[in-house]
Amino acid sequence: MIDHGYPFGKDELIMKKYEALFTEHSRSPVLCFEEEQELYAAYCSLYKRLVKISRISDSYQAAIKELLVKLQTAAAEIKTLSGCLPICASCKKIRDDEGYWQQVEHYLMKHSGAVFTHSVCSECARKLYSDLLLPAPEERPEHEGGSPKTPELDVEDAVIRRFLPTVNNEALASNPLYGDFKDIFLSYIRLLKRQNRIVRISDKYQSQLRELMAVLDISSRTDPLTKLCNRADMFEKLAAEQSRAVRYQKTFSLVMVDLDYFKQVNDTYGHLAGDQFLVAVAGLMRSNLRKEDSCARWGGEEFLILLPETELSNGTHTAEKLRGLIASITVPLHGEKVYITASLGVASYSPGETIDHCIKRADDALYLAKKNGRNRVAAAQ
Ligand code: GH3
Ligand code: MG
Ligand code: MG
Repeated sequence: MIDHGYPFGKDELIMKKYEALFTEHSRSPVLCFEEEQELYAAYCSLYKRLVKISRISDSYQAAIKELLVKLQTAAAEIKTLSGCLPICASCKKIRDDEGYWQQVEHYLMKHSGAVFTHSVCSECARKLYSDLLLPAPEERPEHEGGSPKTPELDVEDAVIRRFLPTVNNEALASNPLYGDFKDIFLSYIRLLKRQNRIVRISDKYQSQLRELMAVLDISSRTDPLTKLCNRADMFEKLAAEQSRAVRYQKTFSLVMVDLDYFKQVNDTYGHLAGDQFLVAVAGLMRSNLRKEDSCARWGGEEFLILLPETELSNGTHTAEKLRGLIASITVPLHGEKVYITASLGVASYSPGETIDHCIKRADDALYLAKKNGRNRVAAAQ
């Protein structure tokens, strides 16, 4: 058998596999113009498919770029902070509008829509490694990392199976069509390899895109400090609950919660201590509500709770339970246990009213609770 050269590289295993395939397809091929045309047609349709896949891959790439620009724009919003921001030359803390020194990260979180995640930059990572007396890992671009695994050719590919016996048939080597035939066959294989590579890249883009979308979706609906849902997300939940209530002639209750004298907590113990209370109260409420209830950070130290299928009396009962739990929270600060209380206003949805109206009634009830001495629940009539 003369060596026509395997187009699949020198890997012996692959060669053996093709050898076996060749034996399996041991018909006597006749290389004719029609056969060459058939292979060329297969090449053309593969090429068309490749162009299509490339286009899809490009669109994923473009979508990712667009998302990254959005993320960068969100981050750039931080730059719209104006005026003079005093930063401590030693500890790098920033002084906020209320005169508290706080971590720059906390300040930015409050003054922008950005979400911060924690990671270690390569310089710090190198330092950490040298501190541990470990050799720092080489930073290598992905395409250079390790010995790249060349994916095997698709031996199930119908065109390869069809024409392999012909291209490997020594008796056909002197056929005038053979040179062109072999060229087209090799081009087909190269194209198939390229297509597989693009499909893999495209899959990677797609999953990257899905991950980015999920991150964006969650962060656009979550309050970064308390991890509760935010106002926008709550409005969506309220609209859904309202249409459910109308359709099934049910009601639901809203509880507006506002921490008492919260400014004093900030003034006495600092803004970060205030944040600790917000996180503790949010966690406590979340873990003491039913899973079908929703709790949102409505404003600075205000929360809105949605209790589906709950009459005013039960809503008031839940609010009373939460009030007692909040009053029992203590946060250790400066060696003392600090307490906090909250006032709560409850309203249940009346058929025909708007969501805004129902919220306003809960808010009015909250105002009444404040007026009557705080650390209490008031229900809207
Ligand atoms: P009241 O009992 O009448 O509700 O008094 P209050 O002091 O709680 O009410 P006020 O509305 O005067 O103050 C709310 C304070 O909440 C002012 C603001 O500094 C603080 N605050 C708002 N958002 C945050 C936050 O994210 N973190 C911290 N620590 N404080 C916040
Ligand atoms: Mg308030
Ligand atoms: Mg308050």
